[in-house]
Amino acid sequence: MQYRVGIGYDIHRLVQGRKLFLGAVEIPYVKGLLGHSDGDALIHALCDALLGALALGDIGEHFPDTDPKYQGIASSRLLKMVKELLDKSGYKINNLDVVIIAQEPTLIPFKKQMKEKICALLDLRQDALNIKAKTNEGLGAVGHLEAIACYATASLIRED
Ligand code: MG
Repeated sequence: MQYRVGIGYDIHRLVQGRKLFLGAVEIPYVKGLLGHSDGDALIHALCDALLGALALGDIGEHFPDTDPKYQGIASSRLLKMVKELLDKSGYKINNLDVVIIAQEPTLIPFKKQMKEKICALLDLRQDALNIKAKTNEGLGAVGHLEAIACYATASLIRED
């Protein structure tokens, strides 16, 4: 058996006039995440964790924010493209773990839907993905409602 692990991190600014997407779910809130794509920091962190485990660089190299073809793109499509790279590698996802750090809104009611969406995108069993949500205790940019940050880890496995 071959094992690999990867880590991903992302942070996006919370701004007026944008929809909030996290984990490929639209979440009702007064602000949304600024970004070249839909700003889904959770999906971006997951993409980076998977790319990291595959030793394939980072999301910015694969989907540059200077490329107009990614303007406004749903991040679920980026995750699908990372999944294609994963499938090519012969590795399968052993498990994924995610932390969302958001002072607002309360994300607990949306975790189940996020999990269903991500598992469907990655063709993954639901017990292979864990999503955690926490506040930043009112501290710093995240605590002051200026941003939402996410961490992700990916563990991959391949039978040789
Ligand atoms: Mg990002």
